[in-house]
Amino acid sequence: MTLRGTHILVTAGPTHEPIDPVRYIANRSSGKQGYAIAAAAARLGARVTLVSGPVALKAPLGVQVARVETAREMLAAVESALPADIGIFAAAVADWRTVSEHSSKMKKAGSAGAPALALTENPDILKTIASRESLRPALVIGFAAETDNVVANARDKLKAKGCDWIVANDVSAETGVMGGDNNQVTLVTQAGEEGWPAMTKEGVASEFMKRAATLWQGKRRGAQAAE
Ligand code: C5P
Repeated sequence: MTLRGTHILVTAGPTHEPIDPVRYIANRSSGKQGYAIAAAAARLGARVTLVSGPVALKAPLGVQVARVETAREMLAAVESALPADIGIFAAAVADWRTVSEHSSKMKKAGSAGAPALALTENPDILKTIASRESLRPALVIGFAAETDNVVANARDKLKAKGCDWIVANDVSAETGVMGGDNNQVTLVTQAGEEGWPAMTKEGVASEFMKRAATLWQGKRRGAQAAE
């Protein structure tokens, strides 16, 4: 199995959405699963671009990393990395950002009480790329981190986002997945669902990349036969 000659785009980590120069909205994503996927893709011989939110991880061997902070920066970096053969969207993108960023540090306002944060929706990077008319990667894969009705929500997302697969995982606090070293995922495709046993994030990454490579090669052969 080789991915030599392919370009694989991976997003990973959280995004940080600034409130003022010292505060931001964030989430608990460590980036470990996305980084492990980028490393596994590089081991299979692919050229890999990893668009990463702020994490404390080193660039995997042979992977080009574009570091970003916000969802809007992540979308811009993803778009400028196209074309890609496979897009894997493992980042935990913040759903909302503040309507405007304060240019100086907000102060406690005495009797005025706590400030209200006005939020607005961030762009959906996965959906934007999956619905592109030009330069849509042949295979677009999303992740769904859920705490309830994990598989049903993932199936809804597969449809809503227009992607080819969703990798669903339960991130309830007791699973220890967010920030931890292990993961238990369910692969949700048009054809059905497949629950994988719990394994390390590296284990999930190498199984997942083998499966993605097989599907991609099948699609490429189909496209070549049709030419
Ligand atoms: O947050 P949500 O559950 O919708 O995330 C599902 C998938 O969508 C993930 O693959 C995530 O990377 C992607 N996503 C995105 N941009 C967003 C929100 C989510 O690319 N603004």
